[in-house]
Amino acid sequence: MQKPRDSVYKRYIPSCTNRHEPGCCAYWFVFSANRLLVSTDGGTPGIPFAPSLLEWRIEPVRTQYLGTFEDHPCYSAELPPDAASPAGMQFSDIRGLYGAIDEDLFYLVGRAVQIMAWDQTHQFCGRCGAPMDRMTEEHAKVCPSCGLICYPRISPAVITAILRDGKILLAHAKHFKGNMFSLIAGFVEPGETLEDCVRREIMEEVGLKVSNIRYFGSQQWPFPNSLMIGFVADYESGEIRVDGAEIVEAGWFTADHLPVLPEEISIARKIINWYAEEYSTSRVNARP
Ligand SMILES: [Zn+2]
Repeated sequence: MQKPRDSVYKRYIPSCTNRHEPGCCAYWFVFSANRLLVSTDGGTPGIPFAPSLLEWRIEPVRTQYLGTFEDHPCYSAELPPDAASPAGMQFSDIRGLYGAIDEDLFYLVGRAVQIMAWDQTHQFCGRCGAPMDRMTEEHAKVCPSCGLICYPRISPAVITAILRDGKILLAHAKHFKGNMFSLIAGFVEPGETLEDCVRREIMEEVGLKVSNIRYFGSQQWPFPNSLMIGFVADYESGEIRVDGAEIVEAGWFTADHLPVLPEEISIARKIINWYAEEYSTSRVNARP
């Protein structure tokens, strides 16, 4: 199953209150239209690092304190969608930064973009319309008029590899680019357990029953606010019948003949890579 990675919390300490002296150098996760501002000095992208955004004459719409990374304060900041990038910097697609910047900083980019977007979309109370106040002890907002408390929204979604006699089920969804095939996935609905969701999505999208559902691992997917929870399950019964609305084609593939797959950043690819390693012919033949 998923290889454990070192915890980001060895280097990052979350907090809502900055207790550093003013003038301390900080990491700035600055977004404009969901693109991240990165410094390009020296060729490799870097997170802007300075005591203040005034260093680059940047005036954000609002900022959020995120805690410390290696004892330096971290902030997210929102710029207008048409903001120009300062000299030596550019706005970059977040997914394109995977593998190009430090993995823990990439994790923080995901956290930063979600906190920034949550602050932007929760300026007013959803129940009574009053302007919301930020809470100081955690990332939460409280309505001073009716008391409603709102937290950053995280939307859990399951993604499952279905195995049958050493083969894996892969499907092509209508919205996939090109001829890519991936695993069956979907958002958890109110009232469901994760296992219920796995069974429902698979039945709805490809008409199969599964059993022996086991946990693989999870991944934040900040596009815009998902938590992907990966599973592996065994085929139990049924014939493939695609729903035609979301899934247009699905089939059983062997580890040695896989179609075009999702990008390496995704948990889908990590699960498929695990399957390919476990079930490739050379590997199976090598078993005693
Ligand atoms: Zn209210």
